[in-house]
Amino acid sequence: MSIANIPFTVQGRRYGPPARPVAVLCLDGCGDEYLDAAMARGLMPQLQAFGRTGYRGMARSALPSFTNVNNSSIVTGVPPSVHGICGNFFFDVARGQEVMMNSAEYLRSGTILAAAARAGRRVAVITAKEKLRDIFAHQLVGPPPGGAHGIAFSSERAGSARVATHGVDGVEALVGAPTPAIYSGEASLFVLRAGAKLLEGGMADFMYLSTTDYMQHRYPPEAPEILDFYRECDHWIGRLVAAGAVVGVTADHGMNAKQQPDGSPNVLYLESMLASLFEFDIRVILPITDPYVVHHGSLGSFAVLHLPPGEAVEPVARCLLQQTGITEVYDRHTAARKLELPLDRLGDLVVLAGRDVVLGRTPAQHDLSVLEGGLRSHGGRYEEMVPFLLSEPLRPEYLRRAHGDPRNFDLFDFTLNGTER
Ligand SMILES: [Zn+2]
Repeated sequence: MSIANIPFTVQGRRYGPPARPVAVLCLDGCGDEYLDAAMARGLMPQLQAFGRTGYRGMARSALPSFTNVNNSSIVTGVPPSVHGICGNFFFDVARGQEVMMNSAEYLRSGTILAAAARAGRRVAVITAKEKLRDIFAHQLVGPPPGGAHGIAFSSERAGSARVATHGVDGVEALVGAPTPAIYSGEASLFVLRAGAKLLEGGMADFMYLSTTDYMQHRYPPEAPEILDFYRECDHWIGRLVAAGAVVGVTADHGMNAKQQPDGSPNVLYLESMLASLFEFDIRVILPITDPYVVHHGSLGSFAVLHLPPGEAVEPVARCLLQQTGITEVYDRHTAARKLELPLDRLGDLVVLAGRDVVLGRTPAQHDLSVLEGGLRSHGGRYEEMVPFLLSEPLRPEYLRRAHGDPRNFDLFDFTLNGTER
C-alpha cells in the first residue's frame, strides 16, 4: 500500500514526512546511562547501530522533567509555554482547586499526530499509561471533523480498546499478549510490540510509542532486571527498522537515585520547613503527583509554591535558596521565561532540587512504604538531558543543530525533515 508524503504544518513548523513508515519513540525515564549500561554488555545491537549509521547524541527535555509535560511537548513540537501542559497536576487559581492536567482540555496546541492523519497518514499512538491517552487522542480518533481516523490506546487498558473510541479493536489478539499490569516492564514492552505488529500488519505507517518508567524508578542502570528489559526493547526497535521504518528515539526525562548514603529517601519537606519559618500558610504543589504512586510516592525534584495574596515572595525565595539541596528558585515571571512555562498555570515561586534530592509537602502526606526498593525519581534540572537517536544519518543542517542545543521535542522535526533517506 502506498504511503502518503504530503507535508503538513503544526505551530508554524512544516513537516515533510517520507513515503515510508515512521516510528517515533519516547522511552520514559530513559537516562542515557541506561543505554550505556546495556550497550556496554552488547544487549542493544540495534540502537548501537543507530550510533554508527544514524545518529546518537543528547537533547534537552522540557522542565519540569516529567512525563506529561514532555510527551505533550514531543507530540506538539513546542515547549510547555505554548502547549500549556506544565505538570501532571496543578493548582487552578481561578477555580481554587488542585486538578490533574491529564486531559486534552488543558492542551493549547494541535498535535503532529492529528495533523499527519489529516494529511493522509495512518497514525497510531500507543502509550503505556492510560493517563496520557486523552492528550494523544486529541483530534485524532474518530471520523472528521472531530477526529482523523487515527488509532490511540494504552497498554494499561489494551483490552478495552474499541473502534469507536480508540480506532482499533482486538488489541490483545493482535499483540498476542494479555493486557499487562501497569507496574511491570511488560507495560512498556507491550507498547513496542504493539507498534511493531501494527506496522507489520499495515495498520499504521506513522507512529508514536510512549512507554512508562516503572522499571527505571525501580532499578539502576546495571540491575539485571533492567538490562533484560532494554534487551527486549532493542529487539522490538529492530522489528520496526526491519519493517522499513525511519525510527527516532528519545526520552521524556532521565532518572536519578534520590537517596541518602544509607539508601533512605532524601526528602526535603517544604511545607513543614516553611511552616516553621513563616507566619502564613504556603501551599506546596508537587506536579509529579499522579495515580502511579508506587513509582515515586509523589516525590520529585520540582515544586510550585502559592503564597497568600499580598505576601512578598522575596523573603521566601531568599530563605529557600539558603537551604542545602535546593538549587534553583524562580519567581513566577522568571520561571515562565527561563523554564518556558505557561505563566497562568504557575504559582508564585518555582523550586528545583539537587540531583539526589526530592521535594515533599509534609512527612504525613507521603507514604514512603509504597516505594519498591529505594527512591529513584526526576522532575528537576538533573534529569533534563536525554538520549536522542535516529536510525538514519542526519542532513548537514540538522547535524549542526544536533551539535547545538536540540530539544527532545524536536524529534519529529529531526525524524521527518532531518534524515538522509
Ligand atoms: Zn516517573
